[in-house]
Amino acid sequence: MRARNGAAYLQRLQDDREVWLDGERVADVTRDPRLGRGARSIAALYDLQLDPCRVDEMTYLSPTSGERVGLSHIQPRSVDDLVRRRNMVRTWSEWSAGMLGRSPDYLNTMVMGCASNADYFAHNDPAYGQNIVRYYETVREQDLCLTHTLVSPQVNRAVHPDLQAGGEVALHVVDETDAGLVLSGARILATLAPASDDLFVAPSPSRSFAGEGNPRAFAFSIPVATRGLRMICRESFDVGRSSFDHPLGSRFEEMDCTAVFDRVLVPWERVFLYGDQDYCAALFRATNCFNHSMHQFLTKNWVKAEFVLGVATLMAEAIGIAGQLHIQRLLGEILHAALTLRAFIRAAEADATPGPGGVFAPDTETLLTARSYFPEVYPRLIEILQILGSSGLANIPSEASVEAPEIAADIERYFQGATLGGKERIRLFRLAWDIACSSFGGRQVLYERYFAGDFYRNVAVHYANHEKGPYREMVASFLNREPSPLPS
Ligand SMILES: Cc1cc2nc3c(=O)[nH]c(=O)nc-3n(C[C@H](O)[C@H](O)[C@H](O)COP(=O)(O)OP(=O)(O)OC[C@H]3O[C@@H](n4cnc5c(N)ncnc54)[C@H](O)[C@@H]3O)c2cc1C
Repeated sequence: MRARNGAAYLQRLQDDREVWLDGERVADVTRDPRLGRGARSIAALYDLQLDPCRVDEMTYLSPTSGERVGLSHIQPRSVDDLVRRRNMVRTWSEWSAGMLGRSPDYLNTMVMGCASNADYFAHNDPAYGQNIVRYYETVREQDLCLTHTLVSPQVNRAVHPDLQAGGEVALHVVDETDAGLVLSGARILATLAPASDDLFVAPSPSRSFAGEGNPRAFAFSIPVATRGLRMICRESFDVGRSSFDHPLGSRFEEMDCTAVFDRVLVPWERVFLYGDQDYCAALFRATNCFNHSMHQFLTKNWVKAEFVLGVATLMAEAIGIAGQLHIQRLLGEILHAALTLRAFIRAAEADATPGPGGVFAPDTETLLTARSYFPEVYPRLIEILQILGSSGLANIPSEASVEAPEIAADIERYFQGATLGGKERIRLFRLAWDIACSSFGGRQVLYERYFAGDFYRNVAVHYANHEKGPYREMVASFLNREPSPLPS
């Protein structure tokens, strides 16, 4: 069995990685109170894949070792394989309520997609083609957990992202040695970096699709615990409260970091693209690598929309408004978001085509449309939770108050709902608050808006790239047609 369990995952994180949080270097991310519970949630996903009841649907037999490896590493050979992979992703997403953006399946599918397009990398340099395939096999056989960082720090968007502040800010190569590339500068925003084994660095898909020049286009991957690599974290949204008080923050803090490179050596065998900048920058436009990750995160988002629907339905029932037409209209909006995502995913699978090496990729046009749909819709789902919940999202005493014997009768009487007792109603509304109002919930909205790039530009670029000839011809043909003449 090569697929890892949670203990093996956590053990590997206990190295000398440089993670900075609240002004101090974190000694052990698996035990740190601000990061440890999030890491343990990722560990639980690894345990889930080895659950004897699920292992057959969560893993498959490795084509090289013959042992069981995680199904998110699979090179799909058919639509059925895509559906199998999607069901595996759904299982992990259901466990996390869709609140873990960087569960390992996201990068697993991207690295697999890259390896399936090894010829693209080999065209840059034959060694890079071999490197990406070998790396994919390592990730699969060791069941590594990866994050990625694709974007240059914000600084000044009025100048090219890679050239701001004299070109010293964006990650750049400062030396080439026999051992490899030496890089300095920074990239954003490495979600889950403190709890990842490796950091995958590649050109941004959004800029790639936009056909933008990118003087810093290269691709490589290094262990997070590489000398000279520093992760600077935002504050943690796991503030040590119970799962009753912070149902999501206490479980799913995946952390976002700026990755600072201080003369970091990237060995040549870890370099996948380098040199021909225009060619490197075109990676995601010219191949179907990103399709696999889009398939993963849309499935996650489908589950997330279903989870919000479940919470919203229980809230409406709990305060006796579920029978109102205008409330049903709002709940129906969430339902339609979930069903739209399902339709996108199934359409992308149905229209999948075999790419290089016969590896099936879901349909690009559908995926690009769906990728831009959720950033617009998720904030609206959150707004609906706020509209439904009203004061119920603020009137949520903490667990200590709920358990205080002196006010127990008040809690039961004054916090009861139409369908729930006081304590259970508070528990449900604290969950809704953590989705819709807390720091954790606010970050989720920001994540869905932006993690896959600037959604304004993504839609515009999709339109600009889309073949519009048929639509023009449809209109021209209509204008050229005379109405049927009346009988004389
Ligand atoms: C919570 C979270 C987690 C993330 N996790 C990851 C991760 O794990 N890995 C990763 O690689 N990335 C991650 N990202 C980063 C994500 O890729 C970027 O946020 C996204 O690409 C947008 O870039 P930006 O944030 O620098 O915004 P900007 O590009 O600075 O955009 C900010 C605003 O300015 C506008 N703007 C920018 N440039 C111009 C211009 N030239 N002309 C006109 N308007 C402009 C944009 O339209 C937007 O409204 C994450 C982001 C968030 C919010």
